[in-house]
Amino acid sequence: MTVPKNAAAVILLRHQTNPKNPEVFLVKRSEKLAFLGGYHAFPGGQFDATDVEAPVENCPEMETRAAISCAARELFEETQVLVARGGEALTKGQRESLFDDLQSGRMSWPALLKHYELHLDANDFTFVGRWVTPPFAARRFDTLFFLAKCPPKQNPQIGEDAELESGQWIAASEAVGRWERSEMLAVPPVLHALKTLAGGLTEDLVQRFLAAPNANGEPTRRIEFRPNYICFPVRTPTRPPATHTNCYLIYTSQELLIIDPGSPYEDEQQALAETVDNLIAEGRSVREIVLTHMHPDHVGGVNALRKHLGQWTKVAAHKLTAEPLGESVRVDRLIKDNDLIDLKGSPELSLRAMHTPGHARGHLCFHEERTGTLVSGDNIVGLGSVLIEPTEGNMRDYLDSLQRMRALPDLSVIFGGHGPAIANPYTKLDQYISHRLEREQNILQAIREGAATAQNVVARVYTDVSPKAHAMAEQAVLAHVDKLVDDGLIQKSTDGQFLPSN
Ligand SMILES: [Zn+2]
Repeated sequence: MTVPKNAAAVILLRHQTNPKNPEVFLVKRSEKLAFLGGYHAFPGGQFDATDVEAPVENCPEMETRAAISCAARELFEETQVLVARGGEALTKGQRESLFDDLQSGRMSWPALLKHYELHLDANDFTFVGRWVTPPFAARRFDTLFFLAKCPPKQNPQIGEDAELESGQWIAASEAVGRWERSEMLAVPPVLHALKTLAGGLTEDLVQRFLAAPNANGEPTRRIEFRPNYICFPVRTPTRPPATHTNCYLIYTSQELLIIDPGSPYEDEQQALAETVDNLIAEGRSVREIVLTHMHPDHVGGVNALRKHLGQWTKVAAHKLTAEPLGESVRVDRLIKDNDLIDLKGSPELSLRAMHTPGHARGHLCFHEERTGTLVSGDNIVGLGSVLIEPTEGNMRDYLDSLQRMRALPDLSVIFGGHGPAIANPYTKLDQYISHRLEREQNILQAIREGAATAQNVVARVYTDVSPKAHAMAEQAVLAHVDKLVDDGLIQKSTDGQFLPSN
């Protein structure tokens, strides 16, 4: 499991904002970013080695000092807003040359503060929580959040080539409204901050910030990237870099649908059961347990959950998932391509099943049209890559499935079987498709140049993959070769050697 990196973020309040409905500076991360691309967030980032050297007044504690320094630097780098004592004396032009000094690396952050006789003060940065990225993420951060006021006469600006696509002042209540209308995606601490600020700048503001169960550095378990879709990552014996499989709890006022309870571990099964029980206690009934496909890291907790909920609990899956599972996991209802699962109650929630083989023969995705949500199972994942391994896997089917997902109109989010939700669905789908096609071309080229076995092909083509993963890469090559044979571009000799067709 990756160790979280230290980071800090700034929740920047507008100067002289309405205390009943405060405005905050919200940024949108670039769609191109591999990590949380397309998410809405606050300015912030990782600690820099020199951050700790900047003096911070009224702050005896070293770690907090480094975090405040990091927060102030990141805020300045990303928005050009400088929250430092002495900064009010600088003209806009001076601030700009200071910004250039930092960006160009001519001066380090502490040296720059010293040079311009600026200093940081902990009283300008109110600590409002410490959040740790759940273990499902490829990159993890241990982030301290600070509330700061934008100094008068300064206005945030987002640079052109930055990690950020845009930024805006927005009333916290309006941002929460956008999230509720499924118009934007944010990680739990950002959403919590917006909801807290939407309650106004009350006397007990900081207490309300810190009252969240995960504001103390305890990793978040139950993640509602989008209203009514809870992502609940459970630890599973899955493939690295993933360590967890996402179970999804999709709910309305009356019903709850459970997708892929995958953990075989008792502690994880209990944590999931508790969360399910809480949703039931609020007046819902479990509609059924649905499986995206038959892999053990997606079905490992089904029997335990059924035992917990009662044996009458139904399990639904595609026929080609039910068959290989056989007696190990009883499937009570078969789902076909295009079948609808309409949940009772509000909001309106209707999921259309898509039979999308490739990763597994019976693989299902679920598409909800109203909000543009796609639950993608292992066809698209939030981290690592998808394994296509014969005989369950089939490269031609997989590419067809990717194209079918790509053709869905108005997708706004993909919930994959592993990793965080994907806020840039079309960018991600295009990357997946072009990655596979590029691999295919390279494999064909290698075979044309004489690579006659999977091992030879891997040695030539998979130079970006660690030797430990070569056995897995060979499986992927076999899947590609099957497709290339189908396409008539190569042949296999009787002893299994690959030969180019003429
Ligand atoms: Zn799988």
